[in-house]
Amino acid sequence: MKNKDKLLEVKNLRTYFDTRRGLAKAVDGVSFDVYKGETLGIVGESGCGKSITSLSILNLVPQPKGKIYGGEILLHRDNDEVIDIAKLKRTGKKMKDIRRKDTAMIFQDPMSSLSPVYTVGSQIMEGIMLSHDVNKSEARERAIEMLRKVGISPAEQRINDYPYQLSGGMNQRAMIAVALSSNPSLLIADEPTTALDVTVEAQILELMEDLQQEYKMSIMFISHDLDVIGEISDRVVVMYTGKVVEVAEVEDLFYNPSHPYTQGLLQSIPKIGRKKELKPISGSVPQIYNLPDACHFAPRCPHKMDICTKKEPPVFDVGEGHQSKCWLYEEGGKRNEG
Ligand code: SF4
Repeated sequence: MKNKDKLLEVKNLRTYFDTRRGLAKAVDGVSFDVYKGETLGIVGESGCGKSITSLSILNLVPQPKGKIYGGEILLHRDNDEVIDIAKLKRTGKKMKDIRRKDTAMIFQDPMSSLSPVYTVGSQIMEGIMLSHDVNKSEARERAIEMLRKVGISPAEQRINDYPYQLSGGMNQRAMIAVALSSNPSLLIADEPTTALDVTVEAQILELMEDLQQEYKMSIMFISHDLDVIGEISDRVVVMYTGKVVEVAEVEDLFYNPSHPYTQGLLQSIPKIGRKKELKPISGSVPQIYNLPDACHFAPRCPHKMDICTKKEPPVFDVGEGHQSKCWLYEEGGKRNEG
């Protein structure tokens, strides 16, 4: 994709937490791009830095212990303005403006973002009125329209419902309506279907795809579940111990995974009719304190070499739009300096 199609560029992002046990490098030198209109899946086990990456993008890293120590988060607006979110004040006017108009986030638990004391309608209307120049009755009309779009009916009546009056799946739909009320260019969805049963999960994924087409927004979809990531993403970023270890187009990643960690994740997914035995990745994810300047996956890697425990691997280009942070590609791959 061309440079002008980029909506977001994350470059060498470092978000650390100052803890009693030392500096926890939750996000450590992460770089990736989000293109306009695409769904970028971010996958990895718990504690790999997926959620802290998204909170960094919204400048909402938990304080006082957490802080963006370095790197850039460049947001490209339609008017050619480029804003480095990492340099903005967390509570400053510009940052609030970005949170209100450019970005929105949905979570695993709708109750963590929907207020129990306001009707879903008033929460959607608030988002509309903050980002558009409309009066209350126009905002109400738009809110009803939003509820229809996310499949909550009859919208004219349900606009007066409180979150406790809706089912889990309905609340997830309402949360999506609230998030989209400001017509954001970037929607960050953090494990939005993890708590849902499979039928509702499929409906929510379909709804998100439809709304993405309609609103022409980009989605950053965060999940530990490779199946869900495979269903919804155009490209995928694989994270491990706060670092990006592989980036690829979704089909390339599933049919031609290059990093041993991604290969391990794919081999441990159960599939109906699969003849090969499931192979879980041995060992467990290390804690993110005092990790060595080497490959953090080395203790679990079946392809470990001498260099892997002595030097951190750089990122190599291993194919078109496909990068891997692994010494295995030193010979055949081309070092990615970007
Ligand atoms: S750098 Fe070495 S240890 Fe790390 S994933 Fe590649 S082969 Fe395995």
